Amino acid sequence: HLGNETAKAELGRATWKYFHTVMARFPVKPNVEESATLASFIQLFQRLYPCGECSEHFRTIIDKFPPQTSSRSSAAAWACHVHNEVNKSLKKELFDCSKIGDFYDCGCAEDAPATDE
Ligand code: FAD
Repeated sequence: HLGNETAKAELGRATWKYFHTVMARFPVKPNVEESATLASFIQLFQRLYPCGECSEHFRTIIDKFPPQTSSRSSAAAWACHVHNEVNKSLKKELFDCSKIGDFYDCGCAEDAPATDE
């Protein structure tokens, strides 16, 4: 059956924005616990993603491309890559991951900078 493609796409856009912003704010040099926390988050994010078909599909992508959580730049590059894998399967334009740098702005520049930044 058809489902609701508009709602599914809106959920996807909101989720990707959030997902990439999480990566953009992940510590530049995380400690072991921070890296493990992001790895768990990604697994739970996949399992709890509200669109069942998408969740299943994303699981196969994560199995093939294990989450990279050793630094902000590796996490951001990994997230860009797996989003591009979804884009490919939906026949969408690919994003140039070399431009991921300042693309996702949390709007929280006024926060006290973290000690590792
Ligand atoms: P989106 O793909 O939502 O992207 C939003 C914006 O992010 C783009 O306009 C661009 O500015 C930017 N962007 C694009 N590519 C990247 C990238 N690689 N890295 C960083 N930023 C980028 N839909 C389905 O129909 N079937 C599925 O199986 C499916 N699986 C999904 C799995 C997950 C985990 C998520 C979060 C969404 C999934 N979706 C799926 C939804 C789908 O990915 C899109 O969100 C939706 O189709 C809307 O697409 P869009 O063209 O507006 O852009």
